[in-house]
Amino acid sequence: MADSIFIKIIKREIPAKIVYEDDSVIAIDDINPKAPVHVLIIPKIEFSNIYNINGSANSPLLGKLFDAVNKVADLKGCTDTGFRIVINNGRSAGQEVDHLHLHLLGGRTMNWPPG
Ligand code: AMP
Repeated sequence: MADSIFIKIIKREIPAKIVYEDDSVIAIDDINPKAPVHVLIIPKIEFSNIYNINGSANSPLLGKLFDAVNKVADLKGCTDTGFRIVINNGRSAGQEVDHLHLHLLGGRTMNWPPG
């Protein structure tokens, strides 16, 4: 199977603006931002979507993913104002890249429901 675009970024085969990285997670600015702050928080291990996470087996990784959310929010100045976390899971939700990732959106007021 071909590497996902995010694996290519992790391998430094294509460029990205890296906001945060540790042994388990990489966070990059979205190339097509939907808000003043739009960061993708990506586990380095590839799960195509939520169905494949096996959360109880991978709980340490999921914990690190949410630790990274807080670090990125802090780095981007969103901790006090708030931010939104989105996972697009499946085609009708708008998932384009089949490598699970969290969108961190901030820097402006968000509407609810999102539409
Ligand atoms: P999703 O639609 O939830 O799968 O989100 C995929 C996101 O990846 C979109 O918001 C794209 O703008 C973003 N994206 C695609 N290619 C790149 C790239 N090379 N660098 C940064 N973000 C990207």
